[in-house]
Amino acid sequence: MSEQYSEELLETGRLLCAAPVEFVMSVADMRQLPVADRPEICFAGRSNVGKSSLINALLNRKKLAKASAEPGRTRQLNYFDLAEGQLYLVDLPGYGYARASKTEIAQWTRLTLSYLQGRPTLKRIFLLIDSRRGVKETDEEVMDILDSAAVVYQVVLTKLDKLKKSEQDGLAEQVLTRLKKRPAFHPVVLATSSMEGLGLPELKAEIASLL
Ligand code: GDP
Repeated sequence: MSEQYSEELLETGRLLCAAPVEFVMSVADMRQLPVADRPEICFAGRSNVGKSSLINALLNRKKLAKASAEPGRTRQLNYFDLAEGQLYLVDLPGYGYARASKTEIAQWTRLTLSYLQGRPTLKRIFLLIDSRRGVKETDEEVMDILDSAAVVYQVVLTKLDKLKKSEQDGLAEQVLTRLKKRPAFHPVVLATSSMEGLGLPELKAEIASLL
């Protein structure tokens, strides 16, 4: 997959993610958002999809994003500053937690929607999908929300190492075929493993391409 990205972009992405990163704040209410004065990307996905692991692996930090001991616990947007003010990385609360109540789901939707609609600097949402579980109904419901908010989302498959090599090949293509008609879907699907570092250079290059 790396042939899609030039050596130069891969290197820019590597440097961007190796630069200093700082936790800025947790936001539970839209009125607390930091001033939208720089490009912003965010990461979303079902609870337990491997979002914390991926953010930590991308930025090469052990405990930047809290590994979720209790899935669905975080109900806030977590803001990180990348490369000394170049970019905000936002960690959205996980969705689809099996024991989530209707109220919690409604809260997630309200917070996410108002965030998406009120953030002109948001360049892209990386929507994480567990390679072994595939695209679930909840994921499709979230994509419906994102399509209606018209914010471009890119699917990032996680935990690729859990699949056999024969299953790995072609999975991104299958997901692409299934979702490509969606209006706000970005037509490149990335496949990653935080554990083995697969696909991380490509994801970094993708982030760098948004600056
Ligand atoms: P989050 O709830 O989306 O933040 O998910 P976590 O990052 O906490 O990961 C959920 C579980 O998946 C943990 O047990 C991780 O160790 C595991 N996990 C995360 N990424 C990978 C990966 O790339 N490969 C494998 N095999 N397991 C992973």
